[in-house]
Amino acid sequence: MIVDVHSHLFSCPGDLGDPFAAESARAHGGEVDLTVRWADYAASAPGDTTTIVVGGKARRSGLWVDDAEVAAYAAARPGRLIGYLALDPTQPGWRDELVHGHQDLGLRGIKLMPMYAGFDPADPALDDLYTYAETHGLPLLVHTGTTFVSAAPLRYALPVHLDEVAIRHPGLRMVLAHLGHPYEGECIAVIRKHRHVYADVSALHYRPFQLWHSLRLVQDYGVWDKLLFGSDYPFTTVNASVDGLRAVGEVPGIPGLPPLDREEIEKLIHRPSLDLLGLS
Ligand SMILES: [Zn+2]
Repeated sequence: MIVDVHSHLFSCPGDLGDPFAAESARAHGGEVDLTVRWADYAASAPGDTTTIVVGGKARRSGLWVDDAEVAAYAAARPGRLIGYLALDPTQPGWRDELVHGHQDLGLRGIKLMPMYAGFDPADPALDDLYTYAETHGLPLLVHTGTTFVSAAPLRYALPVHLDEVAIRHPGLRMVLAHLGHPYEGECIAVIRKHRHVYADVSALHYRPFQLWHSLRLVQDYGVWDKLLFGSDYPFTTVNASVDGLRAVGEVPGIPGLPPLDREEIEKLIHRPSLDLLGLS
């Protein structure tokens, strides 16, 4: 069984405005329809895949997916989809959205996009959010790493901020998205320190040298068990991500350095992430 810990729900153009839409078009060499349809997702993943689906809220970047949309999408596929709520704490109302998304809509984790929304995730003003998540067992999926959106401050994408959050909230389960690319070394330093902090490998396989290099670092630091499988659908698919991981596993070592451990790559692809995140 595969657990995809990172997939999106977007309806275009409704959920994606500018600058996100315009800069996505520029980065991808033309407009891309990011509308998510279950049939397309299911056709590009093994039949027994269980999937965490998130919307996303970042007013500054023109991204806003209503939590009710995510809840309805997930509720229509019980046993296959687990929905997360999303918060943009720069906007009024996030405290109500947190309680409503969790207690009324039944959403089971929280997506944060600090760089896209323009906030410092280590800001002590957010301790209420983290305490609520820790108390109620809601894991966090936090965007870390770079983007094509120029209004999004890179400094808030750095994994090191989540180290401070984990020090103050050691019971909080967190996934740092995209292994913090291209700050993978910093991300590895954070996940290595904290028992409940993980990273996902979503949306990395189309930069194969960087992925190989990052996984070599993971191997050297001995943190394979802290990596979770994710796709970042609709930017890529589960099947393409599995193929991409296996392809870097085929890269031979270089003189003096062994290749990636293929057994560890298979374990990563089949990681029981729902158990680790308390979502089983
Ligand atoms: Zn994503």
